[in-house]
Amino acid sequence: MKTLAIDVGGTKFSVAGFDGDLMALRESRATDREGGPEWLYSQISLIYRDWREKQGFSAERVGVGFGGPVDFDRQTITLSTHVGGWQGFPLLDRLDELCGVRPVMDNDANVGALGEYYFGAGRGADPLFYMTLSTGIGGGIVWQGTAYRGADSYGGELGHLTIRPGGPECLCGARGCYERMCCGLWLERDYGKPAKELLQDEEFVREYVVNLALGLKAAIMILNPARIVIGGGIAKAGEKLFLPLRTELRRQITSWSRARIEVVPAGLGDDSVLYGALVLAGETK
Ligand SMILES: [Zn+2]
Repeated sequence: MKTLAIDVGGTKFSVAGFDGDLMALRESRATDREGGPEWLYSQISLIYRDWREKQGFSAERVGVGFGGPVDFDRQTITLSTHVGGWQGFPLLDRLDELCGVRPVMDNDANVGALGEYYFGAGRGADPLFYMTLSTGIGGGIVWQGTAYRGADSYGGELGHLTIRPGGPECLCGARGCYERMCCGLWLERDYGKPAKELLQDEEFVREYVVNLALGLKAAIMILNPARIVIGGGIAKAGEKLFLPLRTELRRQITSWSRARIEVVPAGLGDDSVLYGALVLAGETK
């Protein structure tokens, strides 16, 4: 079975060709924010046509992880909080025309959660809470082996939890959102340096993990997950970040709670969403 897996992110997009569970082809490029959905679709289309002609890769299933809210039941993009012009864009119709098969789509955090649960650092951990910590923040829940999306597809969206009431204004219009305080986009705007650089500074990390733990505490108190897996660029900081984060979480969690605090970086690096799209494509919609 050949699967085309697509990860549409705020700063880059990736496409993979799977043969069974094996990633046989992969291509990743920067997202042109000005170009919008038409530009992005044309890029995916060029990559796929090239694979089809030169590698004989013909997709039998297509899975898409999208970096923004997706109405899963309707299989539509609600909007992209980081790239304009996506609302109502018929991405799945276009991919259907391209590949001759109906794709399945979900938001990238739910998809990344599936990838880590079946192929990465979340194996055997049920329920699993997955958080993507990069340009923005998203959350995904895997419960009993499948993505738990809630009544209206908006479950797990911890990026806009209020962690600092009266804090700075978020892109969503509210103040002090988890994403506003912790995501890569805002760290760079607030501190004038990319997150990667900031996380080299121990002093900065000590303060940062206080905010970072506030959001994860909510996930632990509500879900009591068997494990929390964090993906996205910021999670690449490794133990420099995870060690103080676990300590801070232990400090913040309610004293009587014996909920485990097992927080680990993603096992699939940049490919959590691609592997998740492979899993998603195998689920019928
Ligand atoms: Zn917000």
